Amino acid sequence: MLQKNVKLSLATKVLIGVALGSLVGFILKYLSSTYNFGIINDLFKFISFFAGLFINALKMLVTPVIFISIVNGTLLINDIITLGRIAVKTLCIYLITTVIAITVSIAVSIVIKPGMGASTEATLHYTPPAGKPIQELSAAIIPHNPIEAMASGNAIQIIIFAIFFGVAIGITGKKAKPIIDMFKSLNVIIAKLVDCVVLLAPYGIFCLIVNSFKTFNLADIRDLFIYFLLVITILIFQMAIIYSTLLHFFAKLNPVIFFKKIKRMLIFSFTTSSSYATIPFTMNAATKRCGVSHKIAAFTVPLGSTINMDGTSVMLGVAIVFIFQAYNIPLNFHHYLLIIITATMASIGTAGIPGVGIAMLSMVLQKVGLPAEGVALILSIDRVLDMARTSVNVTGDCVTACVVAQSEGELNHDIFNDPTAGYYADSIDLHNMHIE
Ligand code: ASP
Repeated sequence: MLQKNVKLSLATKVLIGVALGSLVGFILKYLSSTYNFGIINDLFKFISFFAGLFINALKMLVTPVIFISIVNGTLLINDIITLGRIAVKTLCIYLITTVIAITVSIAVSIVIKPGMGASTEATLHYTPPAGKPIQELSAAIIPHNPIEAMASGNAIQIIIFAIFFGVAIGITGKKAKPIIDMFKSLNVIIAKLVDCVVLLAPYGIFCLIVNSFKTFNLADIRDLFIYFLLVITILIFQMAIIYSTLLHFFAKLNPVIFFKKIKRMLIFSFTTSSSYATIPFTMNAATKRCGVSHKIAAFTVPLGSTINMDGTSVMLGVAIVFIFQAYNIPLNFHHYLLIIITATMASIGTAGIPGVGIAMLSMVLQKVGLPAEGVALILSIDRVLDMARTSVNVTGDCVTACVVAQSEGELNHDIFNDPTAGYYADSIDLHNMHIE
């Protein structure tokens, strides 16, 4: 009973961290803009140092989590035909939802015209971030050096290598038994490490929320209000309509229960703005809260954090049309097609870290022949939108895990329908650690 109370308090602490962070962030922002006290800036710096520590702790987990869980997932699937089928289904859902997101955002932006009359002055003093050419991205899928891929955290290359490695272990048979056992225990160890980092979450989230107030500026949102509102509305549409439809018709799941179950994952994605750093929570939400089997989640979730960015695609669609309109350049069908293709490819090749959508935007702008400096027009409010679109990105990963799991008979509906399933799963008892 006592243990249950302790565990419950972690979940509650996360919410308290969010509430307190908003309050403290708001007060600090108010004091710094009204009185300009130097000490407030120092306080912001101090808190941002701890926010950085927390983000790094999450990022530290990503390469081992991706590699170990995909090797294990591949071993669990243990059959190349099934693996191929799961991969094809996963990729199809990721691609289709991305194309829907970008097409809807372009279509709505053409009608609403968010960029009409916008001033292009902001672009004069702006140097766009360097985006990799699209060809380079598509050529970089198979790693020429897997160790280098891990060292640089290149998610797509780690995933490809992990699949090859897992398949090779599987076909080696008996002789690979020690390695299979080793990966099984590595899986348990890495899950414990994730749990340890999660214990810091309430404090890390507090710092992240306070920190996000530092650059937040209400006046910027006012100036770009239509653009802001449009992106948020289409993000909500993607969540409420597209994902709910997928869940209802293809996974036979109640979307309302689903959204209740992923609340904690959403808090993490929103505060960290990184689908990559949220992987451990997305895995938890998919397996322990929604009942997706480990082998499906281990495959779909890490893959999704890299190649599935529906939220980012929404921003790309609206931003590109906005910039075209601001520069008064007419768009034709060829442009739309090019935008859809290049944005989809860009989202496949880039890992989910904060602000990466902006680099993708300049990449797509160059591809469609627009000045990449146009990025400056929407930059000031991108931090807030990044939080919202990252939440859509990870929700898409979790929805896909459920749909693929259902189609493979790998979804446990009892877990899904149990409101408390996995609720306590994010915490460990550090006082009772033992080696079996
Ligand atoms: N921050 C987003 C993510 O991690 C990517 C983006 O910048 O849109 O999914």
